[in-house]
Amino acid sequence: KKYGVNELRKMFLDFMESKGHLVMKSFSLVPQGDKSLLLINAGMAPLKPYFTGAEKPPRTRVTTCQKCIRTGDIENVGKTARHGTFFEMLGNFSFGDYFKKEAIHWSWEFLTEVVGLDADRLYPSIYLDDDEAFDIWNKEVGIPSERIFRFGKEDNFWEHGAGPCGPCSEIYYDRGEKYGCGKPGCTVGCDCDRYMEVWNNVFTQFENDGNGNYTTLKQKNIDTGMGLERLAVIVQDVDSIFDVDTICALRNLVCEIAHKEYEKNYADDVSIRLITDHIRSATFMISDGIMPTNEGRGYVLRRLIRRAARHGRLLGIEGTFLAKLSAQVIESSKAGYPELEEKKEFIFRVLTNEEKQFNKTIDQGLRILSDMEEDMKKAGEKTLSGDNAFKLYDTYGFPLDLTKEILEEKGYGIDEEGFQKAMEEQRVKARTAREVTNYMGADATVYDDIDVNVTTEFVGYDHLTFDSKV
Ligand code: ATP
Ligand code: MG
Ligand code: MG
Ligand code: MG
Repeated sequence: KKYGVNELRKMFLDFMESKGHLVMKSFSLVPQGDKSLLLINAGMAPLKPYFTGAEKPPRTRVTTCQKCIRTGDIENVGKTARHGTFFEMLGNFSFGDYFKKEAIHWSWEFLTEVVGLDADRLYPSIYLDDDEAFDIWNKEVGIPSERIFRFGKEDNFWEHGAGPCGPCSEIYYDRGEKYGCGKPGCTVGCDCDRYMEVWNNVFTQFENDGNGNYTTLKQKNIDTGMGLERLAVIVQDVDSIFDVDTICALRNLVCEIAHKEYEKNYADDVSIRLITDHIRSATFMISDGIMPTNEGRGYVLRRLIRRAARHGRLLGIEGTFLAKLSAQVIESSKAGYPELEEKKEFIFRVLTNEEKQFNKTIDQGLRILSDMEEDMKKAGEKTLSGDNAFKLYDTYGFPLDLTKEILEEKGYGIDEEGFQKAMEEQRVKARTAREVTNYMGADATVYDDIDVNVTTEFVGYDHLTFDSKV
């Protein structure tokens, strides 16, 4: 049976609830009290205090469907079948309660019995010397040893600096030869889209003191994460996350607005998928209170919106179109995230404002950039100077990555160090100015990540004006 995304989300949470887990709502994409992270990138991230013991969890078994942003995957988006900058992570967590045995058995039960996947296409992987996990998969679940892959630290040991860490066991699904790279030796663990990683079970059993000394934790934890969109790809037997029911509706709308047919031209398809992905990220980020700015989270959002807008241009779309797409995101996601519906007018306004600002300058900026390219060509240079990159950023609102992307397509690079230097110089100048005028008064720190070049006047949800230089 082909379950929809919204159905699968519920099936997972219901299943874990039946195993004694407390179902908790997705946390905000904005980390609370965690300075180490810009945006929530995994189900476990907002639960860290429960893992370390800093806070007492409401129950020792918790399950969530967590909104995630991974900008680190941005280069893959539109190119692989399985990466989005935004995705939902299904997870079950044990804080000193159950351990490997239950986690493995339940993941298998969910995939093969509840969802009904073909067991012969599933392959678990384990950490090199994790014989305990091997025995559970092999002797208890009954997976033949040649179907269990042993991977090293890179893939199958989860840790982030000091603190709780441990080996993991991933579950891969063979989507069939047609998705393979065809290279000899293509098998589980290959980077192509044939053997798709769907679920990661982390066994948080050690503590790293920060110097690579591991001690066994008294409290053993479980942290699992499964991409909802990837699960849907498998269940619905479609090509990529852009073909699952909810996202496909959005992708079709992009095609409609652009007057393009999907799967006619590779470059167009990449743009279509990229817009589809970025508008999902942007919609959820704005709904969690992030505004487009020039630093931190706000910069991530600005970059996503502008990248989507630029690819809209590449597809020949004129005028603003992101709010229309956002409405579709909300339509297909409000079952899981009712707050989207409440905030939709606000989300549309933020998107359209940012898009208008960008459209105003993009043509001009592109012209300046091509003049710069001309100059580089004449001078036989391959790198754009930091000062020029900064000029594009500061005056025309081109995020560095956008300039980089456009230049890379033509074989040019950027002096990024020079760019950072120019930016820092400007920041120092701006800060001094801010101190002198006691800019924003006593609450100045609240606005620390808002670039002073951008005057963002926020007057409640009804009246929003952006008066930005870019
Ligand atoms: P991959 O190797 O495919 O990039 P990963 O090992 O980086 O995945 P994990 O950090 O283990 O992923 O995250 C747990 C699960 O979240 C993955 O098994 C996958 O189902 C899902 N996931 C991870 N990154 C993405 C993404 N960018 N888009 C969609 N789903 C993702
Ligand atoms: Mg990854
Ligand atoms: Mg992986
Ligand atoms: Mg993984």
